Amino acid sequence: MEVLLANEYGFCFGVERAVEMVEDALQVGAPVRTLGPLIHNTQEMQRLECEGVSTVQDPAEVSPDEIAVIRAHGVTPQVQTELEKRAARVVDATCPFVTRVQRLAERAAKEGRHVVVAGNPAHPEMIGVVGYAPNNTFVVSDAGEVEKLPPLHAPLVVSQTTLKLKTFLEVAEAVRAKADAEPQVVNTICSATRDRQDAARALAGLVDVFYIIGGKHSSNSIKLLAVCQEQCQHSFLIETDSEINAEDLKGVNRVGVTAGASTPNWLIDQVVKRLREIGNNGASLSV
Ligand code: SF4
Repeated sequence: MEVLLANEYGFCFGVERAVEMVEDALQVGAPVRTLGPLIHNTQEMQRLECEGVSTVQDPAEVSPDEIAVIRAHGVTPQVQTELEKRAARVVDATCPFVTRVQRLAERAAKEGRHVVVAGNPAHPEMIGVVGYAPNNTFVVSDAGEVEKLPPLHAPLVVSQTTLKLKTFLEVAEAVRAKADAEPQVVNTICSATRDRQDAARALAGLVDVFYIIGGKHSSNSIKLLAVCQEQCQHSFLIETDSEINAEDLKGVNRVGVTAGASTPNWLIDQVVKRLREIGNNGASLSV
């Protein structure tokens, strides 16, 4: 049985960087507290907890002898200042792609322009971005919401990093109709999600069974499952190797493997190892 890994899978750049920064912070020896869960993966969070990382929901919970970590989604400048006042040290693991959106919004607001961000207003990334231009920014989920906005002055249009391109382009078009000048449209969508989906799609037609490794509640893993199911009806979303059922692999020649952007490599390695064991001792691994 051949085990084929998708060309893109697992940790995205921003999550990998954040986990590495937390691991570096642990070397200092002080307690490490992340504001909100660092990533949406139960097993990786449990591993980090065992190493001494815990999660707080509010900056007020951080003590002066602790290291506070800002996760990849970023926070408002107010929250960052609050953490800096309270913690021994602040590790800013905001993904550079998110920082770019924050800076663009901040600059446009300083120029007295409006900012329209296409995204989910309740998402932590969006709350952080709004904090950089609170008086000038509107977050809209879709083009329909643009209709409800007041007239827009020389607007900047940017996006939540994980949004679909179609939604962003529709929002940009709707903003154009409301603006007093040609909007500055900057596509700030990160390609990590799309790259994983494209790679899974490319592999799904070539395999008999597909395992998607990721949290059962992780939206990007659920989307990966849907993409795989389009071409491979035996596609399974699993969190760990213990969920692999050897019965599903009887008579199978090729198994595909991919993983969501919050799935660590060690979980992926365990799944691949288990598949090789099941596959028969002569199973080949192609990467
Ligand atoms: S999905 Fe993209 S923007 Fe978000 S953390 Fe990962 S690399 Fe950064």
